[in-house]
Amino acid sequence: MCRTRIVNARVVTPQGVCYGGVVFDEGGIIAVEDAASECCAAGLDDASLTTVDADGAWLVPGGIDPHVHFGGFGDIPIADDFRTGSFGALAGGTTTVMDFCEPTVEEDARAVIARRMADASVSSVDYAFHFVLSEQYRDLLRDLAYIEDECGIRDYKLFTVYGNTTLSLDDVREIFMRLADDPRRTFLIHAEDAELVACLEDELGDSTDMRLLAETRPDAVEFREVEALHGLVAETGVRACIAHSTCAETAALLDDPPARGEFELETCPHYLAFTSEKLAGPEGARFTMVPPLRSAADQAALWDAILSGKLRILSTDHCPYHARYKDGATYRTIPNGVDGVQWRMIYAFSEGVAKRGLTMPQFVDLTSANAAHFYGMWPRKGCIAVDSDADLVLIDPAGTTVLGMGENVSAIDYSIYEGMEMSGRIARVFKGGREVYDGERVCAEPGSGRFLAR
Ligand SMILES: [Zn+2]
Repeated sequence: MCRTRIVNARVVTPQGVCYGGVVFDEGGIIAVEDAASECCAAGLDDASLTTVDADGAWLVPGGIDPHVHFGGFGDIPIADDFRTGSFGALAGGTTTVMDFCEPTVEEDARAVIARRMADASVSSVDYAFHFVLSEQYRDLLRDLAYIEDECGIRDYKLFTVYGNTTLSLDDVREIFMRLADDPRRTFLIHAEDAELVACLEDELGDSTDMRLLAETRPDAVEFREVEALHGLVAETGVRACIAHSTCAETAALLDDPPARGEFELETCPHYLAFTSEKLAGPEGARFTMVPPLRSAADQAALWDAILSGKLRILSTDHCPYHARYKDGATYRTIPNGVDGVQWRMIYAFSEGVAKRGLTMPQFVDLTSANAAHFYGMWPRKGCIAVDSDADLVLIDPAGTTVLGMGENVSAIDYSIYEGMEMSGRIARVFKGGREVYDGERVCAEPGSGRFLAR
């Protein structure tokens, strides 16, 4: 097995930042070396090591993007599957993703898990799944022991909107109560008030004007539902994360942690990067996702919550569609979703660390460690320590990155981030002890990603 030693790096460990490096192989991290304390890995024969000089770059754990869609649902094909999406992830410094097992009306738990495991067999990033409890949740939960004990899936995705998956708050309460007895279980919840959306859609009718997407899903559509879920977490004591949260009122709930259970928010780079002004005009169709883009004031509130360490998870909800499926659609028929998996890490570095004073330990928390803790992957993932997986990213703070098709390695045919210039550059990426991105090219084998049982 070949060993690698990275030297001259600013290493971000759970104990803080040290100057030095790490030694690792495919089995994991063997040593964390602090140049100042000379605690270098004694007994390692230098001749057997490949040495990488980081030249002062930051060394951080491989990113964890806990919300991506590499195929998996709907009639309109998502641009990326596991093969192409995982290449994008690696080029962006993300080495672990969480995707979904979303059953169709005909599928039971065994069928959907088998289908998604087959889809993921070409992944070059490590992966875990959220299991979607659809309207057939009572049937699906009959296979609970199979889902959890045989497959190692212990996170459940709940939706309060969308055909086939719309759960009422009473349904959610029932699910929470049934599953509250095992603290290893977690929930990721898409929270929008379906009745309010339907009511506003009836009032405003259909249109190709994408500003109506924001008008029919105002802040209150999200906040009312999240507030109710916050109450259900306190009532049942479950551990829940609100997916892709967007607005100031939602973020304010973080100031009021529930007496029992755990209440987390996830947000995505697109809510930090763009406002609903992007929905105007023919280009507006390219910027559609739900919940929709919000105001500058909402963005400021999300950043405040990130900088204070209360909003702890940054995902992408990567769900890109080719432009031909977006352009010319109406706001009620358009496939919602945008790209992001390749840009999340450098976006957080540039806009968080370089521009707003996010510390590097906070950056690691936001991009990997917090998700690893919440979803039961820590310290194997999201951590630079002896015996953790050797998923490592070197970030060159002096470099720059222009986001968009010039850098893209996945199957998207446009990026909402096109032309945005970021401070910093993903210089090299290692996954499972092997180099998978050299700064220009992804050099990973499709299928080299592993399923992470929880
Ligand atoms: Zn999603």
